Amino acid sequence: MKKKICVLLVAVLVLALAAAAVVPPATAKKTLASPSFGAYQHVFIIGVDGAGQFLRDVDTPNFDRIFKDGAVSYAVRTEVPSDSGPNWASILTGVSYFKHLIHNGSSGEVQRTSDTKHPSIFGVARAALPKAELASFVNWNNVNFGMVETDLGVTEKTVAPDADLCDAICAYFDAGNAPAIFFVQFDEVDAAGHANGSASEEYADAIRTADGYVGRIYDTLDRNGLLEDSLFLVTADHGHKVTGGHGRFSLNESLTTIAAAGKTVQPGGTLDKVTRDRDIAAITLFALGIDRPQTMSARVPANLFADTPGEARSFYKDPLDGILSPIMWIVTQFWKG
Ligand SMILES: [Zn+2]
Repeated sequence: MKKKICVLLVAVLVLALAAAAVVPPATAKKTLASPSFGAYQHVFIIGVDGAGQFLRDVDTPNFDRIFKDGAVSYAVRTEVPSDSGPNWASILTGVSYFKHLIHNGSSGEVQRTSDTKHPSIFGVARAALPKAELASFVNWNNVNFGMVETDLGVTEKTVAPDADLCDAICAYFDAGNAPAIFFVQFDEVDAAGHANGSASEEYADAIRTADGYVGRIYDTLDRNGLLEDSLFLVTADHGHKVTGGHGRFSLNESLTTIAAAGKTVQPGGTLDKVTRDRDIAAITLFALGIDRPQTMSARVPANLFADTPGEARSFYKDPLDGILSPIMWIVTQFWKG
């Protein structure tokens, strides 16, 4: 009898999950009629690998001045595993790790092209804006190799160390480029976190240095008249344990930052508590006035745009992601051998 009940429970669970999987999600346009939809010409996403929620704890004068009238949350959830591959891929595709299955290993081995089921924001933007300049400047080449589709005509640069990457970015804007989407990944805060942990002076120093890069990029955009119709975002893919390293559930590892500045951003906004790093994808497309694909589970958070109520996070999709992402991570590690 007990066995029958177990079988019945499993069957109910499977049916519930299957039912959840076939319910079509609402599109951004349907749920959010807002003046902020399409209010921006450019979205700049500055990623600071490994900085997590710790931009809050370090003296960061550039971050503070840029987001003085902006919206900032330090309680944004990363994917689990709280690693770079899964999270930069979720930030760029707007789906969970369970959906895109991109990890640190695969992103260095499998080049991504536009025939993918889960396009990046570059892929979605390219379909809507065939002639727009799009660019991705990174230190960690896996982003450009294994996450950004290589056949979209995105301007891709991989430059290290971070100081040279910052120089390359500023030179790109000083040359007159005005991309609709510009993505950056700085890498050296992560290296300091691995070597010394999140409570170390070295880690704080690396965050201060990255803050200097953020300030330089912002001032370069300003000098080139690129800030007026722009949404400027800073984020990170994961944090670090006090002892260094990341990948699991602890808050030091799995809480991160989204900061936004722009003409319709709610001053002092804090983003709602269920914001995930993947929501960057929805925010970016929304700001540019591009409908996102039905398959994306990213959405526009409340308390980000002053004129936008924000969308509820789907109650059935995220528990599903939450359970299945770690399982799929274990399985993919197993597959890798
Ligand atoms: Zn790392």
